[in-house]
This record gives sequence, structure tokens and C-alpha cells, in this order.
Amino acid sequence: MISLEKLVRPNIWSLAPYSSARDEYSGKEAHVFLDANENPYNTPYNRYPDPLQREVKSALKKVKGVPEEMIFLGNGSDEAIDLAYRVFCNPGRDNVVAIAPTYGMYQVCADINDVEYRTVLLDENFDFQADKLLAACDTNTKIIWICSPNNPTGNSLNRDEILKVIERFEGIVIVDEAYIDFAQQMSLRQELPNHPNLIILQTMSKAWGSAAIRLGMAFASKEIVNIYNKVKYPYNVNQLTQQQALEMLKDPFEIDKYVKILLAERTRLMQAFQELPICEQIYKTDANFFLAKMTDANAIYNYLVDKGIIVRNRNKIQLCQNCLRVTIGNRTENNELLAALRQY
Ligand SMILES: *Cc1c(COP(=O)(O)O)cnc(C)c1O
Repeated sequence: MISLEKLVRPNIWSLAPYSSARDEYSGKEAHVFLDANENPYNTPYNRYPDPLQREVKSALKKVKGVPEEMIFLGNGSDEAIDLAYRVFCNPGRDNVVAIAPTYGMYQVCADINDVEYRTVLLDENFDFQADKLLAACDTNTKIIWICSPNNPTGNSLNRDEILKVIERFEGIVIVDEAYIDFAQQMSLRQELPNHPNLIILQTMSKAWGSAAIRLGMAFASKEIVNIYNKVKYPYNVNQLTQQQALEMLKDPFEIDKYVKILLAERTRLMQAFQELPICEQIYKTDANFFLAKMTDANAIYNYLVDKGIIVRNRNKIQLCQNCLRVTIGNRTENNELLAALRQY
């Protein structure tokens, strides 16, 4: 890996971060807080939240087996995605390399930050080869994006190839594991100590059933986490979110129930799709959704919208012609979708 100092934008490397009133106070004995211009009334909403979300990280450490200093928390994974550009990529000069098709936010954030976004098309199995990704890189490539299980294809990517990219690339490799709780494939979290250039993204939005609270995680070396913390908004994760995350993390086995039910429903729904005359192919998935090639995705999509049922039309995405992406709902929702499709 190139040294972090060379990878990070010079202005970010030398940045003196905002220092809040609570940052400067670190003792435990105080009980009169007249340092942050807060209102003494309207507890508990009157106080600024912990900028470093220590309690949440301590609970996450137990669930994820990652030490607190290697956890960054953001306003959804989206914040961690955007920060990657702001920390590592000089606008108008640097570039990033990503697989395609994949999650749309990597490109949107690249465009916002004026960073060239290079793509390498997946193969016919929606998998990739490390060599092809590496061949798309040059000396200005700062980040390689890998999403596994991938969105919108649903499949996990070849683990050995991902590891090869991490080992051979001199810059930052970000592996987005938003759907890892649904996957057979194991998380790469245990690889973090061996790979200082690895950033792993996870989220409370999918298996944890908490998309509304906006809590995303980035696991990385403590040096990278420190830089992220320097650049983020001081109070990027609000108090209500921190409280609700703690509530969810109290009972981490609760999500295993969601996952088990959703995986059973996924099997049932995919079997039913296979028998639909309007479905030409369903693709292997390791996530809480699957991609299905239909006879006419646009027409079927519009037909479903008329019935008040919304799936994702991926027809225009490379390699996904005539594909619909179907999220697994509850039994009633899935049955309604199937009933509608059988009447098409
Ligand atoms: C849904 C999703 C996320 C989650 O984003 P949040 O901002 O945490 O809600 C991240 N990555 C991928 C690939 C996703 O599909």
C-alpha cells in the first residue's frame, strides 16, 4: 500500500478539525454543562449527541468483533461513500475504478466530487476478475469499489478475486457489504488487521430493518477512521438514531429471525417466478432481493405499478436488459405480487 499520507488529499491530511465544546471536555465528574450554548430545558433533546457515538460503537464491537477505534459511523453508508471521495480524491485529477453494474451511489458521489468514475463490466455470471479491475487503474486511481453481495445483481463476488485486488492494489479498496447478513459468504471483517488499505461498509438499513434511522458503518484501520472523523460533520449521527441503534443492538439475535424468514420467502418467491411463463431467468442471489429476466420488463413493471405494486425496473442497466429487481417482502406482499404476475 502507498502510505496514507500520499493517498489522502493534502488539505485533508493537514486539516485541523472543528473542535466542539464537548470535544474539549473529557472528564467524567462534571454535572453542570454551560459550555455548549445548549438550552437547559427540553431534556433529553436539548443536549448535543456524542460526536463519536461511543456507546453505539461499544455495542457494535461486541456484535461485529471490530474494536471501537476501527469503526466509523455515518448518516447511512451514503455518508461513508461520499467521505471516501472527499478524503482521498483530488477533484478534477484522481479517478476511481468500480465494477458495473453496481450500486448507483458510487458514481453519483464521484460526479458530485468531480472525480473520474471508471467501470469494468462484470462477466456473464455477474462475477469479475481481479486482473481486469487492476488493469483499469493508473497512478491517479485512489479507490476501487467492490460491492458483495452486489446490487442490483444479488450475487456475492468471488472472494479470492476480491482478496487479490486488496493485496495487489496500492490504493484504497472499499468492499460494500450492505447485504452480508443475508449471504452464505463470510464478511471480510477478519481481514482488516492484515490489510490497512481495506474499508468495509455495512448498514443498519437492510437486515437490521432500520433504514429510517440512517446509520451506516465503515470498518477500517484506526488511521483511516481518524481521518474520516476529522472530515465528517461533528454531530453526523443524531441522538434519536444513536438511541434506536442501541435498542436494536441489545438484541442482536432478533435480526437472525428476520433473515431466516426473508430467506425462506426468497426461496418460495424465486421458485414461483421460475414457473411464470413471463419470467425467462432468475439469477443466483445472496441478498434480500433477486434479479429476474422477464419477457418485457417495462410492460410488466407498468402493469404492476397500476396494481399498486412497485418493484425496481433495471431494464436500462448494462447486462440487466428486461430485468426486474424484486425485494423480498412479507408473505402477504409476496403473495400479492405473485397473484398479480399470474394474471398478467
Ligand atoms: C442499500 C444499500 C446501502 C445502504 O445505504 P444506507 O445509506 O446505509 O441506507 C449501501 N450499499 C448498497 C450496495 C446498498 O444496496
